[in-house]
Amino acid sequence: MVYLFCGLLGGAILAAICTPLFRKETTLESAIIEETQWDLLQRKKEVILGNIQDLEFEYKCGKLSEEDYQKIRAEMNAEAAQVFQQVESLESSADLDALIRREISARKTRSNSVTQTSCPSCGSKNPTTNKFCADCGAKLKP
Ligand SMILES: [Zn+2]
Repeated sequence: MVYLFCGLLGGAILAAICTPLFRKETTLESAIIEETQWDLLQRKKEVILGNIQDLEFEYKCGKLSEEDYQKIRAEMNAEAAQVFQQVESLESSADLDALIRREISARKTRSNSVTQTSCPSCGSKNPTTNKFCADCGAKLKP
């Protein structure tokens, strides 16, 4: 009875793991546009940790041989270590403030890249739709 339960649950989990794998390409692409690199790594981390949990569950249910378990677990560990390292280097290389500033300016440039005008007073970039400079408040156009 317990084995049957484990088997059913294991199958459901396996389906849940595999479904996002097939959709990965499109969702990842849109995620890159919507999210920062840090967001992305955090999510990747959660997915990997979830996969490890599922793997352990299946192993405990007896669905995996010791050999398979060790092999897959090692692969997952390596993947997790890689992501942890990426997160760490991202957080330590630049302080988070600098990272946030960089992301914000990247987004600003992305959305305003076509229509920007320099302020005649302070020289900062403003969208051409602005009548006044966002930085110093000077009138942008006569
Ligand atoms: Zn200005």
